[in-house]
Amino acid sequence: MKPLFIANWKMNPRNSKDAFDLAKAVARELEDVEVDVVLCPPFVYVPQLLPSPNVFIGAQDAFWKQEGAYTGEVSPHMLKNLGCSHVILGHSERRKLGETSKMVAKKVQAVLDVSLIPVVCIGESIEQDMNIILKDIKKADVSKIVFVYEPEGAISTEPNGQQASLEQLERALDRMRRLLPKVAPLLYGGSVNSKNIQGFMGKGVQGVLVGAASLHAQEFIRLVKNAILR
Ligand code: PEP
Repeated sequence: MKPLFIANWKMNPRNSKDAFDLAKAVARELEDVEVDVVLCPPFVYVPQLLPSPNVFIGAQDAFWKQEGAYTGEVSPHMLKNLGCSHVILGHSERRKLGETSKMVAKKVQAVLDVSLIPVVCIGESIEQDMNIILKDIKKADVSKIVFVYEPEGAISTEPNGQQASLEQLERALDRMRRLLPKVAPLLYGGSVNSKNIQGFMGKGVQGVLVGAASLHAQEFIRLVKNAILR
């Protein structure tokens, strides 16, 4: 599996031209680099961003039904039709707005149902959350899920947000691996940048989820290139 870099743009940038330019710069500069990148813009920018052979388009959430009377929601089926391949689910910023692990579990299933890849964020309650999320997932589908260890306090925009220590990451990965098949991909997220990326990659993650640093084309490109430097 190639190293995987997921860019969570959150509610940025402010206009579609900036979104287009950011995506274009990333795709151009990483074209010949042996990695997979997933850009996750706000929903409204998804239709204008085209995937390339190693830069894919994802979304930051999706609902658990494919269509119907659900005001304001966007379905996995719609995202699939727009060319998305991945969907971030259970981000702590959504959980703060009331999303529960049971809701995340339903979303994971709906995303798998249309053959999209769920990218599921897990905080400190590793066993509790993962058991709820995995409870009804078919065995064959479990290793299709990309789990991200992303403690809320590690997110750069949190007050006093600080990257997880490498020891903390190691312990979390151990706990997550006990609940997953060997081949399941694991990522880390939280205050990753071009300077600290090598430390996280050295702990055996397949890649990272990147927020703030993914909004600056040159910093994000440096981060990806530094991650695979030997
Ligand atoms: C995130 O919120 O998913 C994230 C990784 O943010 P940051 O990189 O800014 O900590």
